Amino acid sequence: MDLQAILDGIAQDAAQQADRGHVASYIPELACIDPGHFGIAVALPNGQIHAAGDATTPFSIQSISKVFTLSLALGRIGDGLWSRVGREPSGSRFNSIVQLEAEHGRPRNPFINAGALVVTDALMAGREPKTVLTETLTTLHSLCGHDQIFMNAAVATSEKQTGHTNRALAEFMKAHGNLNSPVDLVTDTYFHHCAIEMTCRDLAKAALAFVGAPGCPQLISPTRIRRLNALMLTCGHYDASGDFAFRVGFPGKSGVGGGIMAVIPGRAAVAVWSPGLNAVGNSKLGTEALEQLVQATGWSVFG
Ligand code: GLU
Repeated sequence: MDLQAILDGIAQDAAQQADRGHVASYIPELACIDPGHFGIAVALPNGQIHAAGDATTPFSIQSISKVFTLSLALGRIGDGLWSRVGREPSGSRFNSIVQLEAEHGRPRNPFINAGALVVTDALMAGREPKTVLTETLTTLHSLCGHDQIFMNAAVATSEKQTGHTNRALAEFMKAHGNLNSPVDLVTDTYFHHCAIEMTCRDLAKAALAFVGAPGCPQLISPTRIRRLNALMLTCGHYDASGDFAFRVGFPGKSGVGGGIMAVIPGRAAVAVWSPGLNAVGNSKLGTEALEQLVQATGWSVFG
């Protein structure tokens, strides 16, 4: 299989697309991103990386960071985390407060905003935000083999200024005893880890941590890798997770910056970026590109 030719073809098709979705505007700093970008990269366990398009342009990883913070939180406190957050797809919008109220402040899963805020709080556990953010960045640096991965302070500030719903979710969980650190510290830490910027090449390389094949980084136990992949498959694309499983068929996590990190267990890691989102908030061309990739490679977990 000529992976490079497949990626080049996907990038060429993407370049010709007129309907690119809409760039997220509720975080004002993200609204200025040019929707014309498209990048894709595939990292293989043998160390090879194939890429096409804007694969070396850093973009805001946003919710994709939730997979890394969840891995770190599970590493620190283990399965006790599941008493605070569930493992079921939400079927609701990523920032829904209605569901949180019905479920007494215990978020459905770690990838909706409420769940990720609980994970960030668990990761803090009495530590300074700076310590948690440094740990998150250092993990990414070590997975990527360099330290040129940063948080974009302007994006974090922009989200802080407009992040009323996330603060409401955090306050609500605080009222239910499901948040230990002060709300402002938790939301601030969360906004900052969402504001990490990575390129497709680096993100694909970092995602090898979830591939679980010989040659991949062994930071996470095989059992936990399986579980993280199950969560990405069932909950990684907001209330379109079922549709993503149907159309693409491997675990992935999207972010409102237009990135998608995907894992083909035992085989490869993929990162794709196109800033325009579809109606549910997933990268429009990114999802279509992954559909094309699975059609060309047969890389589905469903056979
Ligand atoms: N920081 C974003 C928010 O909380 C992340 C959302 C996302 O990427 O899904 O709204």
